[in-house]
Amino acid sequence: MKILVINCGSSSLKYQVIDSDTEHVLAKGLCERIGIDGRLTYQPTGQDKIKYDAPMPAHRQAVELVLKQLTDPETGILKSVDEIQAVGHRMVHGGEKFACSTLLTDEVLKTVESCNDLAPLHNPPTLVGVAACKELMPTTPMVGVFDTAFHQTMAPEAYIYGLPYEYYEKYGMRRYGFHGTSHKFVSQRTAELLGKKPEDVKVIVCHLGNGSSISAVDGGKCVETSMGLTPLEGLIMGTRSGDIDPTCIEFIAHKENITLEEAMTIINKKSGVLGISGVSSDFRDLEEAANEGNERAKLALDAFCHHVKKYIGSYIAVMNGIDAIVFTAGIGENSPEVREQIMEGFGFIGATIDPVANKVRGKETLISTPDSKVKVFCVPTNEELAICRDTVEIVTKKIVEDTVKEVLNK
Ligand code: AMP
Repeated sequence: MKILVINCGSSSLKYQVIDSDTEHVLAKGLCERIGIDGRLTYQPTGQDKIKYDAPMPAHRQAVELVLKQLTDPETGILKSVDEIQAVGHRMVHGGEKFACSTLLTDEVLKTVESCNDLAPLHNPPTLVGVAACKELMPTTPMVGVFDTAFHQTMAPEAYIYGLPYEYYEKYGMRRYGFHGTSHKFVSQRTAELLGKKPEDVKVIVCHLGNGSSISAVDGGKCVETSMGLTPLEGLIMGTRSGDIDPTCIEFIAHKENITLEEAMTIINKKSGVLGISGVSSDFRDLEEAANEGNERAKLALDAFCHHVKKYIGSYIAVMNGIDAIVFTAGIGENSPEVREQIMEGFGFIGATIDPVANKVRGKETLISTPDSKVKVFCVPTNEELAICRDTVEIVTKKIVEDTVKEVLNK
């Protein structure tokens, strides 16, 4: 099957076409500056990248241009749009309504819309993207894969906030968690690497990227994760503060004489390792600056690693044991220094990093010593492939159900 995977942001749209039989990417690209002017990037696998400006007043035109590019007689990888057998959409917030991926019927889309309050910046663009695809490919099945779904197995004591219970009942205020597609993909792959079934292992996944989150996966089910109602909670991130005393927000607003909204922008966009270091949100810049003697860049890296270590320790306690710790996403896959610093001192639980194996960047590798009781891995995440797999599973099930219905009606 050829699957189009779409990831919509407010002014961007990332896409990939994946052949689900071989799991190879046939082409990928990005639409940027949607609603401003518009730029399309297109990269057919094994060929040169194509980049050009094209007007994209809204997501509909962006999808239209992507389909036109994919079917271009010279550079396209499809003869016709009909070759796309399903579209998998990355959806951000499914609230408590979606514990797994689902076919995006009109009724389902209404339910997703009812979760918009929980992610007012992220959910509406994904819905706009789905609407554009439905309009241009009316007979192609669309599947939604939710960032929050994998974490829906958390127990109430893990997801409830210490707030008046009525806010949970009235507004759905609780911890949800994000990056679920990545946590699921990486934890399942780790079980495979251990030669065991997901049901038989306890894994901690450290998804460390520009946005970072960590999860405890016990028996294939998420039991804890660091992000909350929104992706602001948890680890110190590129520009987000992560866990802070909630009073800090009011304190900043009062001291800086700014509004609550402005204080929230600081917490979201000017904090994290960028805020601490004053250098950058990018760990490559931070590592370079720290190596040149920049004390605040070093402090930002130390604080980041300290927080990850603290979460790992608490998640081992929550699961009452651990078989593997796994690093993924931009920093987790590419920074041996960060991995080494986080894992320092975990010898007491039987987890020891092998400094030579740990030199790896972006490659699936066992990075613990051969005699390490707890295995430590670097496993590249692949959210698009995970979306493609879920899409195929759901569409195939639908085809089978439709065939059964047809046969029964005869
Ligand atoms: P992601 O959000 O998963 O795409 O991760 C992006 C982040 O990964 C960047 O902002 C960098 O901080 C980090 N990153 C990427 N490559 C490297 C590298 N070679 N060394 C350290 N950090 C890296």
